[in-house]
Amino acid sequence: MSLSRRQLLQTALAATLLPVTGPASAARRKARIIVIGAGFGGATCAKTLRLLSPTSDVLLIDARASWCTGPFTNLALTGLRSVASITRHTTDIGRAHGVRTLIDEVTGIDPVSRTVTTAGGKQLVADRIVLSPGIAMRWGVIAGLSAELSGSMPHAWLGDSQVQSLRERIDAVPDGGTILIGAPPNPYRCPPGPYERASLIAEHLLKTGRARTKILIADAKDDFTKRPLFLAEWDERYGAMIEWIPRAKGGEVARVDTTTGDVWLRDATTPIATHLATIVPPQQAAAIAGRAGLVDESGWCPVNPQSFESSLHAGIHVLGDAAIAAPMPKSAFAANSQAKLCAAAIAAALDGRPAPDARMINTCYSLVAEDAAISVSGFYSAASGRIAVVSEGVSPLTAPDGLRRREAAQARDWYESISTDSFGKSA
Ligand SMILES: Cc1cc2nc3c(=O)[nH]c(=O)nc-3n(C[C@H](O)[C@H](O)[C@H](O)COP(=O)(O)OP(=O)(O)OC[C@H]3O[C@@H](n4cnc5c(N)ncnc54)[C@H](O)[C@@H]3O)c2cc1C
Repeated sequence: MSLSRRQLLQTALAATLLPVTGPASAARRKARIIVIGAGFGGATCAKTLRLLSPTSDVLLIDARASWCTGPFTNLALTGLRSVASITRHTTDIGRAHGVRTLIDEVTGIDPVSRTVTTAGGKQLVADRIVLSPGIAMRWGVIAGLSAELSGSMPHAWLGDSQVQSLRERIDAVPDGGTILIGAPPNPYRCPPGPYERASLIAEHLLKTGRARTKILIADAKDDFTKRPLFLAEWDERYGAMIEWIPRAKGGEVARVDTTTGDVWLRDATTPIATHLATIVPPQQAAAIAGRAGLVDESGWCPVNPQSFESSLHAGIHVLGDAAIAAPMPKSAFAANSQAKLCAAAIAAALDGRPAPDARMINTCYSLVAEDAAISVSGFYSAASGRIAVVSEGVSPLTAPDGLRRREAAQARDWYESISTDSFGKSA
């Protein structure tokens, strides 16, 4: 790594915040801003708009009253956290950030008149609209798997009731059973997520006397983030319990039978019989982004990375997982960082000031066991319509004594601080 993690964080925070902490223009008129999605991106954007544009009227809308955070979902699945401890509530977020909230599904957006329509019958007009609506699953790619049937092979990738049901299903797998994790093709939410899940399930099985259980990772890719580190850690900690099947070896899940638990990999004539399959489907931007005409042929939303304003509709901003922001990963930390930049750009535009310099940051920690973590970090700039990596780093393959343990402690601290930053103190 060319910068230490501490330097990276300090530089990025300073760079993200400095250009926008000057006094707000007294002449700024009261602008109406609607933020759709109270997850990591939307909640952070609403909070930052409130701070940087205090005269603006900010409304935060989410279809859900509560949900589980993606980060630490894998810990909740394996008994290292309670589901309640990773649950957040929309109204609490609004209260903590001093913004109005509305629990309602946005069913349409007219990008020209900037009117938002909701399932509850509201028609709301705004000067600016920010969307951080997250992802939707691309059903129909894996034969036999649909939104209705996915509860039988729960992905637990959307923070809904599947988190609790997958936790119960993991506990019911017998010693000597087979668990199959279906890992999706790029791009998708939380690139290390399926591999962290395999690690923590393996540790949980060992702790609960089920060492003969097999975890197969059926992958639609031939590579994944931190692969050498994950493979080395699995080898050392879990031996033959975890088997990764890359795409080149036919790993991609092609078909499932949700009633029997059978899974067919690409080109296979006979199925794999599973006691539990957790299949994470291919993904795209959440449905509302498509309905508002904000996605391109990739299924994701093209944006100007200096402001996260849509490249397709002026005055509408899209950030977080739904946006095309590669090489940044689709992560909570990236969404939080993008949200601050987006809010600063909107506040500057309302003040008639130029947009601030774009500096963003991400670190993805992955627990490979309760007390061991690995990480990858990146520091990013944006110019001429592109996001560029300024500096990046990854945990060393051979760890000095105690490093993995220290990274696990940092992961826990990171979770608490990003949750508080994005959502306020939990009740
Ligand atoms: C298992 C797992 C582990 C993860 N681990 C990490 C990690 O360790 N570190 C990390 O940085 N990231 C992690 N992530 C990724 C992280 O959860 C996402 O990247 C992050 O939540 C993206 O934030 P967002 O604001 O784009 O979307 P979200 O947080 O999903 O928020 C979107 C919100 O929009 C709302 N919404 C959508 N459509 C509408 C509509 N039409 N009307 C009203 N509301 C709507 C949804 O209800 C939702 O609450 C993990 C994810 C998973 C699944």
